[in-house]
Amino acid sequence: MTDRYWAERRRMIEDQIRRRGLDDARVLGAISEVPRHLFVPQPARDASYDDTPLAIGQGQTISQPYIVALMTSTLELRGAERVLEVGTGSGYQAAILSHLAGEIHTVELVPELAARARRLLAHLKCDNVVVHVGDGSLGWPEAAPYDSIIVTAAAPALPAPLIEQLADHGRLVIPVASGNGYQLLTVVRFEGGRISEQVLASVAFVPLRGKFGVRR
Ligand code: SAH
Repeated sequence: MTDRYWAERRRMIEDQIRRRGLDDARVLGAISEVPRHLFVPQPARDASYDDTPLAIGQGQTISQPYIVALMTSTLELRGAERVLEVGTGSGYQAAILSHLAGEIHTVELVPELAARARRLLAHLKCDNVVVHVGDGSLGWPEAAPYDSIIVTAAAPALPAPLIEQLADHGRLVIPVASGNGYQLLTVVRFEGGRISEQVLASVAFVPLRGKFGVRR
């Protein structure tokens, strides 16, 4: 898609993502297709392609581009998968997933954010994304099991329902609190009835609320 931010988007991919060693052609292709600035509210729009997370209202943020790329790449999507995202926020991550997988269910707790994301995703013809309002710490059992689950808010621990909704050979990528105010971005793989965990990076996300989220 060519728009007036196209050159900025190319630069973002080179300077922030490829330069950090992430060179996944399918993921970078999807990122180059999605107009990130449309997911950023007007006052911050000129900062859309900066190397930082940005406020999207309701105290929430759209993740830093590199983190979106890293989490997406970890899912190793081939095109036919069924994916669950917890924390729709602006809908940006869901739009990226839309280019890479078969069917995406994304769950958002705040109805206003879900409504805005739903409109924008429809406008961009991301027709394989379904936006649900609800507590995503419980997953979305109606469409389970999922080949991949991506959580874009920080959990205090691995939420059991998400593990239960993983398909065999499925993977979950999720920031898990590490006790120092940051979180460990963790990949959980489910294979032959066993789960294994691998830590990818230290990250800072807004808290996951809900039953398996942070207690207030
Ligand atoms: N992926 C988003 C960024 C998410 S920010 C994007 O691309 O823009 C984290 C989001 O998680 C916020 O919108 C917050 O409202 C939502 N959230 C927090 N707890 C949740 C829960 N239990 N269920 C669903 N959404 C939740």
